[in-house]
Amino acid sequence: MGESTDALIERAAESLACAEYAIALTGAGISTESGIADFRGPSGVWTKNPKAEQDAYKTYPRLVEDPKGWWEEMLSQPVSGREGFEKADANSGHYALAELERTGVLKWTLTQNIDALHEKAGCKNLLAYHGTISKLRCMSCNARYPRDSFDFEKLKSDDQLPPRCTHCQGVLKSDVVYFGEPIPSDVAYQSDDEARKCDVMLVCGTSAVVYPFASLPRIAGQGLRGRTAAATVIEVNAEPTPLTEEEVSDYIIQGKTGEILPAIAESVKAKLNV
Ligand code: NAD
Repeated sequence: MGESTDALIERAAESLACAEYAIALTGAGISTESGIADFRGPSGVWTKNPKAEQDAYKTYPRLVEDPKGWWEEMLSQPVSGREGFEKADANSGHYALAELERTGVLKWTLTQNIDALHEKAGCKNLLAYHGTISKLRCMSCNARYPRDSFDFEKLKSDDQLPPRCTHCQGVLKSDVVYFGEPIPSDVAYQSDDEARKCDVMLVCGTSAVVYPFASLPRIAGQGLRGRTAAATVIEVNAEPTPLTEEEVSDYIIQGKTGEILPAIAESVKAKLNV
């Protein structure tokens, strides 16, 4: 019989407490307990509606082809999806990671999520690999702008769409990375570097099938940049993933991130007397 969940939580806490450079990776699974559906879990948006996945691939080519028309279409659609994200609250999983950051154990959190819930939980060292709903990004120079700083209705009525970058006049789009769009080079570079540097990686709530993000645990598991051994890769997920099956992760703690991450954080704090 395998180790119990409690024993695995202790094992993870021990690794984190002794780590020199621990980082966390997160996916949509960490936000399901905040009421935001994931894509590929049992109740995921795409599990229920596979056509939505095909449609998602049309957005980016359409934007590149006709930025003005794309913005006009976006502004004429209901914003219910974004509002859902904006109203959601961080849950105990997000707070546990922010707490691990405050204690100095976790150096960075790299998230695929666009929902800004790690920020709401107080996480400071955050790389939003697929961008965030709260910002716009220049397609030429990657400069980011708060979404709230634009009056889209005025831009539309003044025939000033698409919005433009004040630095280089490039076209602005949502900071969210669309399917088929390259990962912004600044975020891609730093994420890759963090994966090479870390000695412990906590991978939470991701099916680990979306690339290039899914390559980060594989990089960490190879033992590069100034390390003699591979990083310890620990998964916290409701179900096994390709990382589990291909033994990229050392082990999986199977269950809800909202329950397991707080238990890990408590145990780490007890070990460090903080
Ligand atoms: P995914 O939907 O492919 O996989 C989610 C994984 O988390 C599944 O393995 C599921 O079983 C697991 N899971 C669900 N709830 C869990 C819980 N409470 N505790 C532990 N595990 C849980 O998600 P992904 O790997 O992040 O890839 C989806 C892509 O879609 C990402 O690129 C992301 O940007 C985007 N996305 C983001 C959000 C968000 O911002 N919250 C939501 C949906 C999709």
